[in-house]
Formats: sequence, structure tokens, C-alpha cells
Amino acid sequence: MIKWVYSFGADQNEGSTGMRNLLGGKGANLAEMASIGLPVPPGFTITTEVCTAFYDNQQRYPDDLTAQVNDALARVERAVGLRFGDRANPLLVSVRSGARVSMPGMMDTVLNLGLNDDTVEGLAAAAGDPRFAWDSYRRFIQMYGSVVLDVDHHLFEEVIDQIKLETGAIEDTSLSADDWRHVVAEYKALVAEKTGKPFPADPHEQLWGAIGAVFGSWENQRAITYRRLHDIPAAWGTAVNVQAMVFGNMGENCATGVCFTRDPSTGENMFYGEYLVNAQGEDVVAGIRTPQPLSKSVAKPDEIPLETAMPAAYAQLLAVRETLEQHYKDMQDIEFTVQSNKLYMLQTRNGKRTAAASLRMAVEMANDGLIDRAEAVRRVNPSSLDQLLHPMLDPAVPRTALARGLPASPGAATGTVVFSADEAESRAAKGEAVILVRIETSPEDIHGMHAARGILTTRGGMTSHAAVVARGMGRPCVAGAGEIRVDYMAQTLSTGGHTIQVGEVITLDGATGEVFAGSVPMIEPALSGDFGTLMEWADGCRRMGVRANADTPMDAETARKFGAEGIGLCRTEHMFFDPERISAVRQMIMAPDERGRRDALALLLPFQREDFRRLFTIMAPLPVTIRLLDPPLHEFLPHADSELAEIAQALGTDMETLHRRMAELAEANPMLGHRGCRLAITFPEIYETQTRAIIEAAVIVRRDNIDVRPEIMIPLVGAAAELARLRDLVVRTADAVLKEAAATIPYTVGTMIELPRACVTADKIAAHADFFSFGTNDLTQTTLGLSRDDAAKFLGEYVRLGIYPSDPFVTLDQEGVGALIQQAVRLGRQAKPGLKIGICGEHGGDPSSVGFCHTQGFDYVSCSPFRVPIARLAAAQAVLREIRAKAAAPQPEVAR
Ligand code: ADP
Ligand code: MG
Ligand code: MG
Repeated sequence: MIKWVYSFGADQNEGSTGMRNLLGGKGANLAEMASIGLPVPPGFTITTEVCTAFYDNQQRYPDDLTAQVNDALARVERAVGLRFGDRANPLLVSVRSGARVSMPGMMDTVLNLGLNDDTVEGLAAAAGDPRFAWDSYRRFIQMYGSVVLDVDHHLFEEVIDQIKLETGAIEDTSLSADDWRHVVAEYKALVAEKTGKPFPADPHEQLWGAIGAVFGSWENQRAITYRRLHDIPAAWGTAVNVQAMVFGNMGENCATGVCFTRDPSTGENMFYGEYLVNAQGEDVVAGIRTPQPLSKSVAKPDEIPLETAMPAAYAQLLAVRETLEQHYKDMQDIEFTVQSNKLYMLQTRNGKRTAAASLRMAVEMANDGLIDRAEAVRRVNPSSLDQLLHPMLDPAVPRTALARGLPASPGAATGTVVFSADEAESRAAKGEAVILVRIETSPEDIHGMHAARGILTTRGGMTSHAAVVARGMGRPCVAGAGEIRVDYMAQTLSTGGHTIQVGEVITLDGATGEVFAGSVPMIEPALSGDFGTLMEWADGCRRMGVRANADTPMDAETARKFGAEGIGLCRTEHMFFDPERISAVRQMIMAPDERGRRDALALLLPFQREDFRRLFTIMAPLPVTIRLLDPPLHEFLPHADSELAEIAQALGTDMETLHRRMAELAEANPMLGHRGCRLAITFPEIYETQTRAIIEAAVIVRRDNIDVRPEIMIPLVGAAAELARLRDLVVRTADAVLKEAAATIPYTVGTMIELPRACVTADKIAAHADFFSFGTNDLTQTTLGLSRDDAAKFLGEYVRLGIYPSDPFVTLDQEGVGALIQQAVRLGRQAKPGLKIGICGEHGGDPSSVGFCHTQGFDYVSCSPFRVPIARLAAAQAVLREIRAKAAAPQPEVAR
């Protein structure tokens, strides 16, 4: 015989927290609470397996379910000394849904089930309180009518509003027994009219109606949609809980309330909650009356805390708070009812919390010995740290919203509006805070993005240029705010009747995507001691190193502040856009021959050498990986004729020749064009000069007795022969420089793995590489055949339809790109055991992608400076997950 029904309460607890799959979260925790001696009204749980069997079997219940329910109900009757349907002393029950995870869309709870015209009189007599009995009855018809019989709940409320109008009552509690009796009559008439049938009077019919409604709600549209959005399989099913009623609406010594064992917004170890006297169920959250606080210490002068109103019940609740935290070892979200000064527990679960609260509670609980440090590290969601590292808008201050775009890069920023990168730079140089507003951004805008406090675009998605670069720089960014119209000519932005001129102030909230007029005060993130403590514990757990992607000295300093253990990617091209050198860069590009290119490169060499010297100094003694030039050359070219004329003059050629050269450089598919190592296969002098700059800088730094560890990285390698040639070039150049300087500095030469061909031939490539660094941005583009810049138009729809589980540019596509990575790691290490392996794409700061890198045996991940703490925590959690999985596996040594 299959057991379909599990009892709880009154000394018979057949379930426990661990049985949440079978009993749902609510049922499992009711049994758990009862078994540790907390006052839980007795009841029983009909398992999730009944739900599954019901849908597998043409919506029919298992044969023996009725008998099992009757037995369990009889036990509850004995336990409380009442009989279901009894005229003199009726047992009333609640019917509550409960899936494994709490799920909006499921049936709402029905309270006071078992009442009819006979039992209501019994209840009134037994309680000596007709008002209470008739209030309970009308509540029951109202809940059952709307939830089970589908009568619009507004219609019920209209009846109450009408009677309040007639009697002049303001609050429900001042209505008399007769008023409620009158309401009940009207309710029954309403149900009969709407459903064509009288309201069911038979308690058993009521019970099965409610049970059926819970199971039915598992397949309603709301629940199906919620499951789809949250990856909850339909096969999980929901459980049904049937529980003896206790009454919070039986007078002034009764109440109902909700509370958290700690403050869910700050994490402070204080009791936090609300209650209502003489109320039932969800009255507290329904806003019918104003709930009151629990403790004296937080009560305002006009409030009556539970501590004062019902000291005995408050004392019981305090004890329960302690018991629950000790038992569950986490902050609990509790629902309770007080009947005649006695406390009853109706629900507990791990409470939801803010990022700050989660951090504080984890550290304090570990310090108090409630949990161990590993558990504290597990408790904090790495992504949530983002919220803690950036300034926030003060939630208390009113503001004028202008528009909403995508929350592309977190943090808040206030500044004057500018519409060009150059103006951003020149105003910022004078100390002005600016917001760079563009329709979209391109690599030419980098200097302006750097100078700006925040960036706003009206086009592009979460992975647009603006979004990616802003996240990398730690600049707040709102992207794709489509309601805003930008007029570069008029130097204005306009939206919903507002027009903002250049120089006027706006505020961005990059965490929500909102744009506000004027300046909104901000709260600086207070990186509490708890943050440092948790990070230290995380560092104690993790195996992988965490580096930062940093192009400038400022990035490098931020990276160190957040605990980066080196630079995993320094993109040299960002240095090229500096106004002082862009013209030399352009001369190099436009030069007709090698000679001309070498002349221009000679101008660039000192700039680059100085850049690298500063980076090495800041990062010493940590490793710095420098990627040689990667983007297609035409990205550096100007569009304006005046700028072209300048180059023509510098090169001593005419405009016509320049235009011809421009046409030669144009590409149909720049992403797949003349870029990466291909640039150096055709123009070796570019990489030669960059290598010279790197090693010369290292020599200078080394002379000051500073440790320096340059790692030279060659991008976009697809064939081993490319790397063989370029490695040879780099090593020859580097060794020559070292020889000239009579210095010995260890350096390494590796490659980015960002093409599928590189992955499948990784063994051959490894022969010429000291390290691999997966460039997962390009590897995702080339594996999926998907251009990041063009994907925004349709990728959202792909994710919505579930074609891809998430944006593959944000979270690594493990099934596709991940399979290639796995193969490349295997082949690479097969050819060269101990080959150092890292990642430097955007994914290096995404927690689940970091977890994947750990399982693949990566040595390090590298991400934007602001994500370094996220990666540190995610890398630690990956280790803890692995330890758990090993402990759970029956035979850890099984070969794969
Ligand atoms: P939800 O899942 O929406 O929180 P619940 O099943 O927890 O719904 O029920 C909501 C509220 O109904 C509870 O917080 C409690 O106040 C009340 N309630 C449920 N069962 C009972 C009961 N047996 N006795 C008294 N009140 C109950
Ligand atoms: Mg609810
Ligand atoms: Mg609840």
C-alpha cells in the first residue's frame, strides 16, 4: 500500500524538513516544528505524489486515498476532541497548498472549512461568541466561494462595503453577529446566483472540493507560467495540507501575525514583525487595518506592541524564535496565531533577505557558532555582492522619473548631460561630473566613457558595447532606454514631455535601469567589516586564482583593492585611443608600406612602454597578462574630413590616397576579418613593437628591484602555425631587448582560445603556448555563429522561449561553448601537462560560469575589477559544492 497521507502535530509526526519533495515546503516544516515541540495545530499532508498520480490517471485520485484521508482526519478529531461536521462542537480545518518551493499561482488557503448553518450555531455556543462564529462563517464562504467556486472576490467585498455603509461601521471588527449573519445570507445568495448551485453545506463535500481545487491549481495558467519562468518541472506536483483551525479572531486576547527572526533588510539580530489583534489569516498583509509591531523597543508612541498587549504570548514567541534559529540555523520567516493568549505556529521557512542582510547574518551566525565558516560562505549569493559595491540612490528621497532602460551596469550616478565623448572628457578634466548620453557607443567613445560618471544609451542591450565596457570600468550604465530621443544637433534628450539640454543634471540608477531628472542624493556603499571577513573566509576555501581585466592604472588600482591576484587581460587597444597618440596610430594604419608603419610605431613605443611600466608597478609582484593588438585597424580611423586632413599632412600624402586606403581597409564582417593575430601575420612589426615596449618596461621596473611578471598573449589564434610564427617573433624580440639591457626577466607567451578551430586543435597549439586564456566573448560569437552586437534584437525572445536557457554572452553556454572548452583543456593538457589555463571573457565574473571553470580544472578566472569579489566568492562556493558532491557520492574514485 502506498502511503498518500502523512500526519503532523499532537505527537504523531510522520514528516520532517528533509521530506519537502514529498510533503512540500509547508507540510515538511509543519511536521518538523511539531516534532521539536513547538505548538502546531494537528493536521495532515496529502503528498505531492497524489498530485502526480492524479494527472497521470485522467484526473482520478488513487483508490485508497479517501480511506487514508478519513483515518488522518479521525486522528485530528481525537487529538482536539472535536468532530468534523458535529453540530454541537464542530472541528474546523484549513486547506493549504504547498509545493516544494513556494509558488505564486497556487491555490490560496481556505480557512474555517466545515462550517454550515448548523455547525455555525455549535461554534457560537461552544465559544460563547456568536460574532466570532458568524465572522468565521462569512470568511469561509468568501474564501471558498472565490478560491474554489471561482466567484469574483470583489462581489463579496461589495456586500461588506454595503453593510458597513448601512451600519456606519468603519472597521470590520465593529460589525455585530447579526451583521455577519446578514452577510452570510447575502453571500450564499450570491454564490447560488453565480454558480447555479447552492453553497455546499456538507463538510466532506467542502473538504474534497478544496482538495480538488489545490490539485487543479497546479495546472492553472498562472502556475504553468511561473513554473516555466523558474524552471520548475510539472512533475514535482503540489501537496495539500489539512490542519485543525486555531482562531485569532475570537476576541481581544487573540491575534495573528508574521515575523522574521532577524531584520531581513539589514540582517540585524533583532526580532522583526507585525501582528493584528482579533484577526485571521492574511488580514495582516491585506492592509485592512494597520498592523502593530511585536516589541516595545521598536514601537512608536501610538502603537501597541504584542509585548504589551499579550505579554504571555510574546514570551512564547520569543522562545520560539530562539528555538527555530537554533534548529534551522538560518533566519526564519514565521506565521503565527494567538488564540486566547496561547501561541500557535502555522508556518516557518528560510526568510528572503537583501544582499546586505545576507552578508551580515552569515558572518554573525558563524561568529556565534550557529553555522561554520564554510556554511557562511555558501549562504551569500555572489551576484548579490554587486549591490553592495556601488553607491545607491537614497530610497527615502522623492524623485522625478524620466524613463527606464536596461540595468546594464550597477551603481548610481549624477552629472550634467553631455552628448559626445570629447565633451565628456574636457568637462571632466575641469572637475565636472558628467553623464555621457549616446544613442549607442563605439570603441571611439572609450575615453569619454572613462571620463563620465555614468553612461546612458537609447539603443542596445545588456551586452551592447556600452554595457560591456561600462561594467568593465565599473561605471553605472543604463542601456537601451528606447523612450528617450537623443538629438545630437540640438544637443537635447527628450522623453515623455521633458526636454533636457546639454549641461542639465540627470541621475542614473544602473541597478534598476531608471533615469531621473536632476540630482538624487546617494548612499555610499559602506564596505562593512563583514564583507572583508566573508571574503577572507572565501579565499580560504577556493582553489582557482582570481584576476582582473584591467587596461589602465586606475582599473588596476581598483582591481587590487578588490583583491585581484593579477591582471588576466590588459587590452592594449584602449591605450591607442588616447588623444596624444591616436594620430600616430592612424599614421601607422594609413602608411603605405612597412617603412611608414615602423616610423609611426616608433612614435607609439614610448607611450606604450610608459603604460606598461605603470601597470607593472601597481601590480607587482603579481602577473600581468598583456594582449597584443586585437581589433581590426579601421576601428581606429576617423570619419571627419578635418581629422583625415591632419593625417594626410602628417604622412605627406593627399586626401585621395587616404580615401583609397580607407576603402581598402573597409570590411564586410570585421569581427571575422583582418584582426587579432592576423594583423601581425601580415604586419609583424606591430607585435614586434608592442613586445619591445612590454619588455623594456619590465627592464625599467626590474631595475628598481620591483618584481615583474609579464605574460604576453596572442589573440584569435586558429591554427598552430600562426602561434608558432608569432611566438618565434615575440621570443626573438624579447630576448634581444633583454640582451641589450643585460637583464634576465622571466616572461611567458600564451594565447587566447577564442575560435572553435583552436579548441579542437588545442594539442597542437599547446605545443607553442605557455598558457591558454579562454576569450569566451569571441568564442561564444564564433561557436554560436552569433554577433554580439546584433543579437540584442532577437536574443531576448530566444531566452523567453527557452531556446537558450539564458543570454549566452552573460552566462556561459555550457552545452555548446562549454563542450569546446572541455575538449580544449583536455587536448591542451594532454600535450602539455600542467599547462596554465584561465578565462578572460565577460563570463569570468558570472558565478555559474566561474563554477564551470572550476570543474574544468582552470587555474584562474579574470573579470572586470568590480566583479573580482563576486568571482572570489563563486570560486569558493565551487570548491564547497565539490566537497559536498564527493561526500555524497557512493564511490568517489570511479573513473569517468
Ligand atoms: P500562504 O502560502 O499564502 O502563506 P498559508 O497556507 O500559509 O498561505 O495560509 C495563510 C494564513 O492562513 C496563515 O498565515 C495563517 O494565518 C492562516 N492559517 C492557515 N491555516 C490555519 C489554521 N489551521 N489555523 C489558523 N490560521 C490558519
Ligand atoms: Mg497567500
Ligand atoms: Mg503562509
